[in-house]
Amino acid sequence: MAEILKAIKGMNDILPPESARWEWLEDIVRQLMRRYGFQNMRTPIVEPTALFVRGLGEVTDIVEKEMYSFEDSLNGDRLTLRPEGTAGAVRAINEHSFLYEGGKRLYYIGPMFRHERPQKGRYRQFHQVGAEVLGFAGPDVDAELILMTAALWRDLGLVVGRDVKLQLNSLGQPEERKAHREALIRHLEAHAELLDEDGKRRLHSNPLRILDTKNPVMQPVVEAAPRLLDFLGEASLAHFNAVKAVLDAAGVPYEVNTRLVRGMDYYNLTVFEWVTDRLGAQGTVCGGGRYDGLIEQLGGKPAPAVGWGLGMERLLLLLEEVGVPAPETAPDAFAVVFAGTPLPTVLATLEALRAEGIAVVLNPAGKEGPASPKSQFKKADASGARFALVFGPDEVAQGTVSVKPLRDGGEQLRQPLNDVSAWAPSLRVGRPS
Ligand code: ATP
Ligand code: MG
Repeated sequence: MAEILKAIKGMNDILPPESARWEWLEDIVRQLMRRYGFQNMRTPIVEPTALFVRGLGEVTDIVEKEMYSFEDSLNGDRLTLRPEGTAGAVRAINEHSFLYEGGKRLYYIGPMFRHERPQKGRYRQFHQVGAEVLGFAGPDVDAELILMTAALWRDLGLVVGRDVKLQLNSLGQPEERKAHREALIRHLEAHAELLDEDGKRRLHSNPLRILDTKNPVMQPVVEAAPRLLDFLGEASLAHFNAVKAVLDAAGVPYEVNTRLVRGMDYYNLTVFEWVTDRLGAQGTVCGGGRYDGLIEQLGGKPAPAVGWGLGMERLLLLLEEVGVPAPETAPDAFAVVFAGTPLPTVLATLEALRAEGIAVVLNPAGKEGPASPKSQFKKADASGARFALVFGPDEVAQGTVSVKPLRDGGEQLRQPLNDVSAWAPSLRVGRPS
């Protein structure tokens, strides 16, 4: 026998019944986006490597070691499988002068690729929902984006403050970061002997990232480090306070984490993460912030922007961990067809039911014709359907079908084949909405 071919490590198939959870989540996300006035966008999965090098920053984890990059064998172009969605979104809005008429609220759902060590909640192909608001500078949109994520947790059945917690920080403006960076480097240099290898490497390239180290040895140095918040000027502080005031008024609890820096270089002012302690080390479910410099950095007309991205795999793991029930996927009805029943009548009836919005599954006959009634009813039960539609030669000869309740008791009824719309709604009874 030929060897079975396997998917690439860290890249997962999503099959039923798991895929039903994905569709359920995507439906809830789409409804949320609609309520907040976000429009869908879809950009290519492959982009020029330069987009991410320029967009995310040369010394970020992603660009340094996590990108799937390759050469286009036809013309030698350097290409990369997108590791995140913001850079591509900005490239698209620049390329199409999309902010010409004013600000935009956009969202996307799709796969991202990072060459990481696969483990629970960390994969090489994973999926993000991303929301980006482009062209607005005020703290109102930062706050609205955070409220929107809180609304999503509620819609999904998660409890804010228990299942997911909000961490908030401000990274200020580049000049403020520069002053802090100098003070930070001085502090870290004074304790250089306590820095691990990553820390030493980042000391002069990306010292801010040292602050979110998980290495316990470095904790004392990091805890005593100068806080970026103390370097913020009046305008940055006012922006931060305005965001906090909205969250306070809305009753969304948060913790100011002065060491929250996020992985990409493009952030300024507001940054936030939703974290959970139920997924071990992969605790960040959603992260975002303001990136006012990125549009210009990627060649566009300067415009402010803010957004967030959430990891769908991690969110689904969390929902399972918390015990949010899986969505109902059973059909309303399951059609059991006995030998000798005219097929055109059966299929015409099923079509009429589906036209009324009823989910009905046909039990296919084998080459030898239908299986025994007993075996067919077993399948009907296993399908989870609430009703069996029994098509037997006798029923059909009288212009009827038998409707047999499978789950909630009740009487078996004969229903007319020529007036399906009269009784189709009765098959919806007991269906979860
Ligand atoms: P982490 O610190 O866990 O590596 P990150 O800062 O790299 O996360 P972002 O780039 O902010 O993550 O991506 C947004 C979200 O996408 C994360 O909060 C997480 O939920 C999800 N995510 C990131 N990388 C992965 C991955 N390799 N596998 C699954 N989900 C991921
Ligand atoms: Mg990462």
